[in-house]
This record gives sequence, C-alpha cells and structure tokens, in this order.
Amino acid sequence: MKKQTKKTNVQYRPPIVTLMGHVDHGKTSILDAIRESGITKTEAGGITQHIGAYTVVKDGKKITFIDTPGHEAFTKMRARGGAAADIVILVVAADDGVMPQTKEAIMHAKSANVPIIVAINKIDLEGADILRVKRQLAENGIAVEGFGGDIVAAPISATKGTGINDLLDLITLVAEMNQDVLVASPDDSMQFLVIESSHKGKSGVVVSGIVKNGTLHIRDNVESKEVKAKVKAIKDSSGNRIDFALPGDAVEILGFTDMPEVGDIVHIEGVTLGTTKEEKEVVEGSTVIVENVEGNEGEVTKPKKTLNLVIRADTVGTLEAIVASVGKLNVEDASTNILFSGTGEVKESDILLASTGRAIVVAFKVKVSSSVEEMAKTQKIIIRSHEIIYEMLEELEGALVGVLEIEEAKVKGNGIIIEKFVLPKSNMVVAGTLVEAGKFKVNNRVGIFRDNSETPVFIARIKTLHIGTKEVDIAKKGDEVGILFKPELNQIELDDKIIVL
Ligand code: GDP
Repeated sequence: MKKQTKKTNVQYRPPIVTLMGHVDHGKTSILDAIRESGITKTEAGGITQHIGAYTVVKDGKKITFIDTPGHEAFTKMRARGGAAADIVILVVAADDGVMPQTKEAIMHAKSANVPIIVAINKIDLEGADILRVKRQLAENGIAVEGFGGDIVAAPISATKGTGINDLLDLITLVAEMNQDVLVASPDDSMQFLVIESSHKGKSGVVVSGIVKNGTLHIRDNVESKEVKAKVKAIKDSSGNRIDFALPGDAVEILGFTDMPEVGDIVHIEGVTLGTTKEEKEVVEGSTVIVENVEGNEGEVTKPKKTLNLVIRADTVGTLEAIVASVGKLNVEDASTNILFSGTGEVKESDILLASTGRAIVVAFKVKVSSSVEEMAKTQKIIIRSHEIIYEMLEELEGALVGVLEIEEAKVKGNGIIIEKFVLPKSNMVVAGTLVEAGKFKVNNRVGIFRDNSETPVFIARIKTLHIGTKEVDIAKKGDEVGILFKPELNQIELDDKIIVL
C-alpha cells in the first residue's frame, strides 16, 4: 500500500451508500427510483443483474448503492471488521414518522459513526407531515437542519420521483465533506468488499461486492479471512464479462470454491493490509468504540469506562423502568451506555449490534430463540436473561465495579480456562483452569473476561476449588484447578480469563 503522503494526485472512490429505516417506509422504492432515473452507469441499457450493489453517475460523479436495504446487512458488515457503507440514508415515511426500526437504524448508523442523510419519503401522501418527522428525529438524536443540528434531510416521493435528484446531490455533498475516507487509487493494494455470496448452479460460488481500492483483475489470486480463490471471471451489473474492475465498481466474481462472509474484505493473496486506519480495522477486527451514542452531537465528555448494553424487555413500561434504573447505575468513573433498548424477543440484529458495539445483551422476561443463542455464541456475545429487576441491576453494578477494579490492575490471581466439563448429576459446569499468576481462594470475587475485552462478561464468586478429586481452599500459580462458581456460570468458554477482583 502506497502511503498517501503527497496531496497531489490524490484520487477518490465513489461513496458506498446504504439505505436503512422502518419496514414499508420505502427503501426498496427509493433504490428502484434511483436505478430507473436514467442515470445508471452502464451504457448497455441499464442494470440487468442484481449484484448486490449498483453505481449511478450524477453530474459526472459516481455514487455506489448497496442494493440490499436494511440494517441486517449493514451490521453484518460492521460485525465482520469495520468495513461498511460510507453514508447511511435514513428513510422515514412522512405519514408514519419515526418507528421502532427507524430507532434501530439510528443506533446502528451512530454506533458505526457513519454520516447520515435523512430521506423523508412519501411526501405525496395526504397524511404527510415533514415537520413532525423532523421533530421526532430530533427527539431521537438526529438533529436535522432547522431543528438544532446540521444533518441534511431531503423530502422525497419515491413513487412520484420527486426530490430524487436533490437526494443524490446531498449524497455527493456529504461524500465531499467526508473525502478523507474515500481516498483510493487503481494502483493501491486491492480491497474488495463482499456484499453477497451464494451458490448459483453451474457458476458455483458467485461473490458480489464493490472494489474499495486498487484494481481487481481476472486471474488474480485473492483471499479473505477464511477463503481463497483464483478469479475466473468478473462481471459488471449488465452481466458483461470484464477484465478488471476499478475503485467504486460493483461487480460479481467467479472462482471461489467456498463462500466468503458478507462484509469480508477480499485482497490479493499474501498482501498484508494494515497501513491505513480502515485497513487496520479490517486486519484487527472490529475496533468500533461507541462514544456517547445517546448524547448530543459534538458534546464533549470526560472519557469514562463504559459497559455497553443492548436491552430487550417484555413491555414498554418495564423497559422504561429498566432504562431509567440502569441509567442511574454509576460506579465512580464507570457507567452504563445503552446502545439500544426495545421490547420483544432478542433479535439477530441485537446480537450484531452488540458485536459491533462490544456490548452485553440483557433479556428481561423475553425469549431468546435458539437461532439467536447460536448466533450469540458464534459472535461471542453474552446474553443475560433476567426476571427480577433488582437482580439484574445488582449484576450490572457488579460488572461496573469489575470494570473499575480491573483498571487498578492489582492482579491478585488470574488464570485461563483450559477445559470445561459438566458434572453428571447436577449438570453444573466446572471451569478447568490453569492458574497463571497469584492465587485463587474459595469465596474470591472473580471476573470472567473474553477476547481481551476490558469488560467482564460475568462476575461471580468462587464456590469450590478442586485439584484432581481433592477439594482445596487455595490454588496457586501453575495449578490446574476445577472451579465452580456462585452464581453458577454455564456460559463460560475455553480461553476465558479468570481474574480475582
Ligand atoms: P421498504 O420495506 O422500506 O423497502 O418499502 P417499499 O419500498 O417496499 O415500500 C412500501 C410501500 O410503500 C410500497 O407499497 C410502495 O409502493 C409504497 N411507497 C414507497 N414509496 C412511496 C412514496 O413515495 N409514495 C407513496 N404514496 N407510496 C410509496
């Protein structure tokens, strides 16, 4: 990767834009309206293939849209390591206003720290009330122009085509204001953002996405985190086979035998990324720090240790009570930060948000389906289910204390879980732990830490210690000890760190 040291000759790629918002507010219609507005890139009679993204040219400037609306795809990308759209269009129907998924979309966009443009859609309808939408947005942390902020909003009608041009102009404007993340050159190391991948009959694995930097050529040997391929063919959105694709081009690649994940970055085999901030994110995994999500734009706060939370509760009333009490939890310099709260079952999008925001999911009297649980497991996200508010608050307070105590770095004892076994009769889970430093004593308060996180995933006390079959009171450095916790912890995992607090 060449460093962009000289100001001369700096090149930019088109912005990658995604649409998010409540169901039925018009995301698909807007994407269609833009696609059909006669400004699509291809000469060969418009876009004929769905390849997950498409590019339009407005006044000589390209804009690439991710053609899969919704925040699922967006957060999947964030969860895969920081690669995502450069601009989010928040779609709100003028007759319906801010709805639950609008709020979720706001949280996702804010936690990803991506510029937002509001599209107030369906202004042709009788019940349309643009001012009400703007007011509701302000109440939800999106302060648009004229409502105490500088977020731009375009009133549009996707079905009538009204305002679509203005929306495109706003995108170009916001892209220009955020050019620092759009630096790219055909000569740089190639980076390709995976938007979709699927098995398609004879073609085998078809991967579609956008070239974010460099040039992709046929016959390139490429790789993502998990899979490799020799590029057999590249197709543009008209279905034409092309020999190479440049920054901003949305294309389909053939040649993979296994599917890369949505949001993966594919690069030339053996080329290490890692010079730019964006590349570092890709290499090191998600490094998102959710700062002051709930706060006002530009508000400066003292850096605090925070415990990020995604909260689901059974009713609006309970949720309000939980949010209010959780907000009051404040242990010295550590406090909670609610990335999202909502009613109803824990959803996959919650896990994705928790994964991006490094948060714990609290499920209060709501179901967690096995598919969500499975996903939480693979994303290494902890879901804590509770039925009693004070127990939940006690646990969170304990976790906050843990956050601070770890800061003090007075390691009294620490170890790593090297084995996990379940006791036959009681089904209790024993943490087979190698004591790496200090001592573990019965009744010690310990934090369980995962993946180098500073926030403990659990706080508990040591109930019993066993070395072999012998019950002991103390385990020292070098011992392999079986630990039972109180409360019982059955979600511990191999490689979790146990630190005496
Ligand atoms: P999505 O779920 O956000 O993708 O929403 P869709 O694009 O599928 O739109 C939902 C419904 O709203 C469809 O019946 C659209 O025809 C309608 N719709 C979308 N945009 C407009 C608009 O600007 N005006 C009116 N009157 N209807 C719209």
